Amino acid sequence: MTFEEYGRLIALGPPSVRFADELPERALLLRHDIDDRPKWIEPMARVEAEQGAVSTYCLQVRSRFYGLDDEADGAVRTLLECGHELGLHFDSSDMTSDDEVLEGVIRDVTLLESRYEAAVRVVSFHMPGVRPAGHLVLPAPLVNTYAPRFFGDIAYLSDSNQNWRGKDPEAELRAATRIQFLTHPTLWSGRPLRAILEEQAQRLCTTVDELATEDQKAVLAVQR
Ligand SMILES: [Zn+2]
Repeated sequence: MTFEEYGRLIALGPPSVRFADELPERALLLRHDIDDRPKWIEPMARVEAEQGAVSTYCLQVRSRFYGLDDEADGAVRTLLECGHELGLHFDSSDMTSDDEVLEGVIRDVTLLESRYEAAVRVVSFHMPGVRPAGHLVLPAPLVNTYAPRFFGDIAYLSDSNQNWRGKDPEAELRAATRIQFLTHPTLWSGRPLRAILEEQAQRLCTTVDELATEDQKAVLAVQR
């Protein structure tokens, strides 16, 4: 999977809009969850900008895989220059109460906004299968990308671990009226999942076996 392929794919869908917009009849919501090095943001942001598409890049504030360092700062500057939006990607999987999640979200939104002097309105939750997030109502102007109006009421497509879960992305985008499309830039960097995980494992001084989630292991078993 390459950035060029991603560009061809999104060209098949409805016009892109922002999460905070009133959803028109036909709408493509492009969202990126950043779970790997921010350096992969730039090529994706440029491919989108070339098409006049707008998207939202959700960054984590406390990730095992990257920090808010010079690389992240440069990537955020580029995505904002390209006209895209900065969002928060939040890992609530080990939190027990919803209050704790809401407090954490507000704290991290504030941190992102002050570091990048940009408004943050979009919040996506990391691994919502582990801790459900769709019921969480965030204080305005924040929006939850797993709220029913973005997830459930409209179509949804995800590139999770380079596995389309039996869906044909081209057909989905062509047929969609309103659709949210989640992608992870690192997965489009022209490398199979194993190479991506090997690079991560080396960087974190660990093994692919320790690092990979069950879902990733299932993809590794079938991907060639
Ligand atoms: Zn994530």
